Amino acid sequence: MKSFNKESIVWLGVYGHPDDETSASGGTMVKLSDKGHQVYVITATGGELGTLGTDGSKIKREDLASVRECELKTNMKAYGANPPFMLRYVDQELEKEDPEVLAIKILDIMHMVEPDVVSTFGPSGISNHPDHIAIHKSTLIAYEKYTNPTGENTPLLIYPSIPEDIAKMYNLQLSPVEKNMDLIIDIDDTIRYKIEGLKNYKSQEDAQEFAAHLSEREGPHFESFAVSDSSQNDWESHPVVRYLRSL
Ligand SMILES: [Zn+2]
Repeated sequence: MKSFNKESIVWLGVYGHPDDETSASGGTMVKLSDKGHQVYVITATGGELGTLGTDGSKIKREDLASVRECELKTNMKAYGANPPFMLRYVDQELEKEDPEVLAIKILDIMHMVEPDVVSTFGPSGISNHPDHIAIHKSTLIAYEKYTNPTGENTPLLIYPSIPEDIAKMYNLQLSPVEKNMDLIIDIDDTIRYKIEGLKNYKSQEDAQEFAAHLSEREGPHFESFAVSDSSQNDWESHPVVRYLRSL
């Protein structure tokens, strides 16, 4: 296994649209960067098909991708994370790409940043959005190519997860793995960054709704993740698991 120093964890999120990273892991990313770890995000599309502004603002459709990219960059900075890697696909067109070609783009970035933990959507993409499912498939391919069978380079692969009762409440058709609460990160101390980040996605109605929902909800606040079946069998003893659980 790659020699591990808890002073230098590298977190890599791989998501479909600007705002997915914040909904899935905003609080966790801030916790990690606060402790001096490296946080990276790959965003596959510009989110061109999202809503065109909130609160009376009206963004032109052709400007939406650049507006959302700006919102994402501002948030990454506020989280203490590195600037995002933009793959610049068009919203809802990710599934038209050859999954292997998309995987190579993700793999190149993995080789560059050498992640200890890779976070991406699970098989249902939480919402069954085709871009979310496509990014899941290609990240899995990239992860398997990156992971060295000799045991070196074995990052942990995790998916945002939602407990069974909440999934039912929102009628989410999750795959079984996405209901596993393998890693539960207490984000009470960073929830304000997550809410501010969601609010900062001023173009997006659902980000505003999620921000309002989180603001109204009593704590404790947490983010939860399932460990992918593709991670090593003894993932419980992976040093990153122990570290994330102690956060
Ligand atoms: Zn999305």
